[in-house]
Amino acid sequence: MIENHNLHIYNTLSGEKEKFESLNPPMVGMYVCGPTVYSDVHIGNLRTFMSFDLVFRYLKHLGYKVRYVRNITDVGHLESNADTGEDKISKKARLEQLEPMEIVHRYTHDFHQVLESFNNLPPSIEPTATGHLIEQIEITKTLIEKGLAYESEGSVYFDVTKYNQEHNYGELSKRNIEDLMANSRTLDGQDEKRNPQDFALWKKASAEHIMRWPSPWSEGFPGWHLECTVMSTKYLGEQFDIHGGGMDLKFPHHECEIAQAKGAFDQAPVKYWMHANMLTLNGQKMSKSTGNTILPKELFSGDNHFFEKAFHPMVVRFFMLQAHYRSVLDLSNEAMLAAEKGFNRLMLAGKSIENLPISENTSFDLHQWVKLCHEKMDDDFNSPMLIAQLFDMVKYINAILDGSETINQHDHIILKMRWDEFVHQILGLYAVENISGNKALDGAMQLLIEQRDKARANKDWATSDEIRDRLAQYGITLKDGKEGTGYSVE
Ligand code: AMP
Ligand code: ZN
Repeated sequence: MIENHNLHIYNTLSGEKEKFESLNPPMVGMYVCGPTVYSDVHIGNLRTFMSFDLVFRYLKHLGYKVRYVRNITDVGHLESNADTGEDKISKKARLEQLEPMEIVHRYTHDFHQVLESFNNLPPSIEPTATGHLIEQIEITKTLIEKGLAYESEGSVYFDVTKYNQEHNYGELSKRNIEDLMANSRTLDGQDEKRNPQDFALWKKASAEHIMRWPSPWSEGFPGWHLECTVMSTKYLGEQFDIHGGGMDLKFPHHECEIAQAKGAFDQAPVKYWMHANMLTLNGQKMSKSTGNTILPKELFSGDNHFFEKAFHPMVVRFFMLQAHYRSVLDLSNEAMLAAEKGFNRLMLAGKSIENLPISENTSFDLHQWVKLCHEKMDDDFNSPMLIAQLFDMVKYINAILDGSETINQHDHIILKMRWDEFVHQILGLYAVENISGNKALDGAMQLLIEQRDKARANKDWATSDEIRDRLAQYGITLKDGKEGTGYSVE
C-alpha cells in the first residue's frame, strides 16, 4: 500500500517542484545513467549514484514498487562530446594491452564493490549497451525512415534542425538552438554532419577501432546517447516516471535522449527529470579528465595527500547526505572531520534508544517529530533537513537519559521503529565500531582494551572500571560484544 504522502520532486524540465504522481501506481519506473566502465569510480561519481540511492530508498519506503534501471556504458562513449576522439574503453584497452571486455569487467566489478561498501542498494536491472545493439540499430532505422536522421559516409547522424521544426531541442537544458548554431564552429572530422549540433546514432569504425559490429550502414558502433533511450524504454516503457543523472549530463546527453525518444515514439519519454549536483574537491569539480579526483579506497585507507586520516564509508555517506542532492558539495579535510563527529553523535544516540528508561508519560510530541521527518523528505528528498530533525531527537534522547524528559512504553516502540526507518532504511546508515580511522588512536585504544581485558581476567575490577570511566571523560565509550571490545568516539 502506498503511504499517503505529499512528495514533491524538482523537475528540471519545468524548473519547479512538482507533486509526485506516478504514471502507473503502485509502480514507479526510474532510469539513472550509469558509469562508463573504463576507470575506477571516484567519489564524485559516487555522490550522484548515492543521491539516486536515496530517491530509490524513499520511494520504496512510501510503498511504491520501484523498477530501478541503471545501465553500464561499455561502448560508444567517445572522448569528445562532438562525436570525435577515441572510444574511452577502446583507448584504455589499447593502453593496457587488454581486450575491451577485460576492461569492462574489471571496472564493472570495481564499481559494484564500491557502491556496496557505501551501502547503496543494487538496481533492479543493470543492462549494458553492448547487450542492446540490435535495438539501437532498429531505432536508428526508425529515425531514418521518419526523416529525422541521415546516413553520411557509413555513419548515421540525428538531424537536429529537422527535429527542431516540430519540437524544441534545448527544452531540458534551456538552450536555444539558434544560439547553439551561432556559437558552434565546424570542428575537424565533423564534415560528415549537416550541422555541428547533429549527433551520432551510429559511427563507422576506423581501421584501428577494435569494438565494431555489423549494421546496414557500416561496421561500427552506436552513439553514446542512443543506448539510454533504448534501455530505458525497453525496460520501463515509452513513457516512464523518473530519469536521473549528474548535472553534467543534462546537455547534450539527456537533451539528445529526449530528441531520440520523441522522434521515434512521438511522445515525451520522461515525467520527472532529476539532476544531482556535483562534488567538488577543495573547490574544484572532481573530474577524471582534470585529475582532481580521489578514489574511495584512498579515502578509506587514508593513503592520499588531501586528508589527514582515513574515513569510514559510512562517514562519507553521512557527509554526502548532509547536503541536499541539488547543491554543490565540497569535500575537504575539515568537512570530513566535522562529518565524522556528527555521525558518531547520531550513532551513539541511536544505540542508547534500546536502553532508555521508560516512564508513565511522554513529555514531548513524538508524533509531530515523525511528521516533520516525513515532511523534510517529501520536500524533494531533503536529507540535510531530515538529519537536522534526527539531531533534535538526539537532544531528547540525551534528555531522557539524564531524566529531564520522559518517554512511555508505547512511544518507545514507535521511536525505535521510526529511527530504524529514517536512519537505516531511508538514509542507509548503520553504526560502526572503531570508527576513528586514526591509526595512532586505534593503536592506543587497542593497548588500553588489552590492559582492561587483563585486569578483568585477574578480577581487578577497580582497574578495569577506571580505564572505562577515564575514557568516558574524553568522550570515548567502550562496548563489550561477542567479538571483543570495540569503542566509539563522541
Ligand atoms: P561517467 O562514468 O563519467 O559517465 O559518470 C558517471 C556519473 O557520475 C554521471 O552521472 C556523472 O554526472 C557523475 N559525475 C561525474 N563527476 C561528478 C562529480 N564531480 N560530482 C558528482 N557527480 C559526478
Ligand atoms: Zn545516459
